[in-house]
Amino acid sequence: MSSDCIFCAIVAGAAPSAPIAETESTFAFMDIRPGSDGHLLVVPKRHSTDLRDIPAEDLSAVVLESQRIAKHAFDAWGADGVNLLNCCGADAWQTVFHFHMHVIPRYRDKDKDRLRLPFEPGVRGDQELIGSLAASIRAALGEG
Ligand code: 5GP
Ligand code: ZN
Repeated sequence: MSSDCIFCAIVAGAAPSAPIAETESTFAFMDIRPGSDGHLLVVPKRHSTDLRDIPAEDLSAVVLESQRIAKHAFDAWGADGVNLLNCCGADAWQTVFHFHMHVIPRYRDKDKDRLRLPFEPGVRGDQELIGSLAASIRAALGEG
């Protein structure tokens, strides 16, 4: 537990939350500023800062628990879809530095869904840049 971490406090029961589910290594609770109805967070009980330092077993447990809960969002809330989102680093919109996965139910009914991401899927990228970025990450990964 990290002493000044709000999510560690929520896991420990020292700060209030609307809890959803708990496993041996994860805790799920409702997001206090939801982007859509039912927006929730799944966190590892053990403190990690972000995607870079979370141990593999905690990351797997959080992803599997996110999937389990996401499946139920369709029946329980009538969701039409779900986004899983993780923000790693302040420049990627991370504001709480205890790893968490957002489980964001999506609805055709926009009264229930306020989420707008500044992302335009379908816009074709610069093929030369895509190729050179692929080459540099392949080199970093040690891919031949
Ligand atoms: P991030 O921007 O770090 O990916 O997301 C942090 C999320 O945590 C936000 O969606 C925010 O609404 C939520 N959050 C921040 N503080 C609290 C809190 O004290 N309780 C709950 N339930 N959610 C919180
Ligand atoms: Zn923490």
